Formats: sequence, structure tokens, C-alpha cells
Amino acid sequence: MNSMSLSSSQGENMLHGVLAQFDLAADRLKLDGKLRLVLRSCKRELTVHFPIVMDDGKAVVFTGYRVQHNLARGPGKGGIRYAPDVTPDEVKAMAMLMTWKSAVVNIPYGGAKGGIACSPNLMSATELERLTRRYTTEISLVIGPDEDIPAPDVGTDATVMGWIVDAYSQQRGFYVPGVVTGKPLSLRGTKGRVGAAGRGCALIARETFGYLGKELQGAAVVVQGFGKVGQAAASELAKYGGKIIAVSDISGGTFASSGLDVDRLLKHEKDSLIDFKGGESLTNRELLELPCDILLPCAVEGQITEANAPRLKAKVIIEGANGPITPEADHILDDRGIFVVPDILANAGGVVVSYFEWLQDTQSSFWEEEQVNERLLSIMKRSFKEVLNISQKEKISMRTAAYMVGVDRVAAAMTARGIYA
Ligand code: NAD
Repeated sequence: MNSMSLSSSQGENMLHGVLAQFDLAADRLKLDGKLRLVLRSCKRELTVHFPIVMDDGKAVVFTGYRVQHNLARGPGKGGIRYAPDVTPDEVKAMAMLMTWKSAVVNIPYGGAKGGIACSPNLMSATELERLTRRYTTEISLVIGPDEDIPAPDVGTDATVMGWIVDAYSQQRGFYVPGVVTGKPLSLRGTKGRVGAAGRGCALIARETFGYLGKELQGAAVVVQGFGKVGQAAASELAKYGGKIIAVSDISGGTFASSGLDVDRLLKHEKDSLIDFKGGESLTNRELLELPCDILLPCAVEGQITEANAPRLKAKVIIEGANGPITPEADHILDDRGIFVVPDILANAGGVVVSYFEWLQDTQSSFWEEEQVNERLLSIMKRSFKEVLNISQKEKISMRTAAYMVGVDRVAAAMTARGIYA
């Protein structure tokens, strides 16, 4: 598992950016003032402090969060992040993004997010298990298959989801598979969940290229953040004929203008990609500024700022990560005519396949991988088209168009339920 470091001001900036983008969409939709007020805040914010006995026998108190932004369209849905500098503002911003994302792809969920400030790569597996079980108990007040359904995010994975479903089910006295998605297959996870967000990014890249009349065959692709999302996006784009010229992790990256061998990269077991033998090493800053056809920022928020946006040479940017572009950078990229597909559309494949997993669990009826992928493709294509149509009709960026689609659907549900939804 990887971890990363974000300052609290970065979380604050992210929240500010998500709210500013909401305001833009709300203005265009002429959203009622009362609805704006409700949608600008989070419905429920739980902070928990809990002790864990570490392997050396000492106790440490950790702080965790679970935030539900809006539940008007269905249960809360959103990942759990384990990283050193998880902040309340960052979690709130990501919960809001989840509300708009679920609505953009029109699945029956609200938005939620969780996290624990911890360094998963410095903890043993047994410490992580104790941390996860105790956190699950603390947040079990607000999660559940009909209430709020966590999933993996940065620093968490299927193993962590397995501990969550077990800790929650122990309290209930029976197995409750629908409480969490991204579980191992043996625990009634779904085929095709691993890498779904990244595969969705690749599908969106293909739709974007189709619309722009460009060829994916031989297109130069750069991926920042070679984790769960970045690896799947790179593998899938390589299958479509894309040439993966650079990838990175938190410590730096590797570059080959003739293309990197993605299978070898996936097997690279060292701590860092810098020492990958099949390419030249480079920094994350250099990687983001490489000339390429598609840039996929798949690491964390706030990576493309007003400082580096003027130097980016990508033609298309597909946001694999949540919030990788600051609002100031977004304007610069827009002015420069770089086609940006926003997070709430681009990486929605993860929540879409999470929805499929939850559907299968609640119906105890299981799908083959082709069925998962076919349905994912159909939802991603439809959502891309809906957002693109609004973007063209209103002459606005894909981001504002995606927010308009998402905010409009949530506002319609809130209006139908009444302001107390
Ligand atoms: P991960 O922990 O599996 O991978 C993150 C990768 O980014 C790692 O390679 C890490 O070393 C690298 N990284 C971290 N900080 C970095 C930095 N400052 N510069 C460069 N690289 C850095 O996480 P993930 O699940 O792949 O999530 C990545 C992003 O995608 C996050 O923004 C997450 O919220 C978003 N996302 C994840 C999912 C999902 O299902 N996992 C779905 C949608 C969106």
C-alpha cells in the first residue's frame, strides 16, 4: 500500500475548488437559494479518535472520519483513504465529489467519503488490521448497505475491505456483504472491480478521441500515480494501442519515448519506479510537463496548479485522481484549449462497478466479467455523451457541464422530496 502527504491547506483548497465549481453550475442552473445552501454543506460529519496497540506494545490514538454529503438519491457511497495528512476538509470535498459523480453516471447513490490519518506503508499488516477493525466499529453508527457503503481509495485495498465487512458483520451476527464494495471475490466481491476506475478512464479516453477525431493507436500516454487507478488505466490504454511513455509513483517516475513495457512495469516489485530498468528516471514535475497526447493524473489532488499549467504539453487530460487540477490551473488549461475530462466523469468507473457489486450482493445473483464490462461501457458512453452535449450546447468546459448534470439530478431529487431530504 502506498501513502502520500498532503498539507491541511491542500484539503482546504480542494474543498474551496469543489464549492466554487458547484457555484458555477448552480448559477447556470439558476438553482434555488435554499437548495444551494443545503448542497454547499455536508449532511453528516463523524470524527472518531480511537486507540490501537501497536506491535511494540505501545498505544497510539488515531483520528478517522466518515462524511456523508448528500443522501437524497440513495445511500452514501465513497472510498476510505489511509494517508498521513487526511484532513476533514479533504474528506468533505471528496464526499461532495462523490455526490456529483454518482449523479453524473446516474446510479442511485449519494456521496460520502472516509479516511484515517495514518501511514499505511509504515505499519505492519496486523497493525493495519487492528486499525481497520476499530475504525469500522467506530463508524458502524453511520455505515450500512442501505445507509453508506465504503470502498477502497488511496492506501486501502480489497484486503482492507475484507476486514471492514468482517468487523461490521461480527456486530450484526450475520454476514452483510452489501456494507462495503471492492471486497475480495471470495467475500462476494464482483468480477471486474479491480481496476474499474482506471479501465473507465481508458474508456473515456477512447470516447474523447472518437469525438476529437484522433487515433488512439500510437498515441503517447503519460500516467502520474501508478497505483490502482493508474495501473489499470495504463494497461487498458496499452491494449487500445496507446504508447505508455511515462509513469510515476510518489518518489518519481520512468520514461521511454519509444514506449514502456506495461507488463514489466506491473511486475516491478521495487519500492520505487525510479529504478525501473526499461526507462530513464524523471521527477513527477518533469513527467507532468512531457509532450504527450493524453495525460492521466492518477495520484492525488492539487498536482496541476497555476505554476505548472502554462507548461503542460498534453493535448487531452483525463482526471483519474479526484481533484488533481486546481481551479486556477483549470482556467489556464481551458484558455489553452486543452481538453480536460473531469474526475466526476472520468474516474466514475470505480463507483459504477461498486454499484454492480452491491446490486449482485443484495440480489445474491452474480455476473460474469463480460457482463460487468459491457454495462460499464454502456454507462460510461452514455454519461460522456450527456456531458459532452451540455458542454457543446452551453459552450462550457466539460467540468462545468458534468457538474450541471450531477447537480441538476440531485436538485431534482431534493425538490421532489422537499427541503428536509
Ligand atoms: P493508490 O494508493 O492505489 O495509488 C496512488 C498512486 O499515486 C501510488 O502509485 C502513489 O505512489 C502515487 N502518488 C501518491 N502521491 C503522489 C504524488 N504526490 N505524486 C506522484 N504520485 C503520487 O490510490 P488509487 O486508489 O489508485 O487512487 C488514486 C486517485 O484516484 C485518488 O485521487 C483517488 O481518490 C482516485 N480514485 C480512486 C478510485 C478507486 O477505486 N481506487 C476510484 C476513483 C478515483
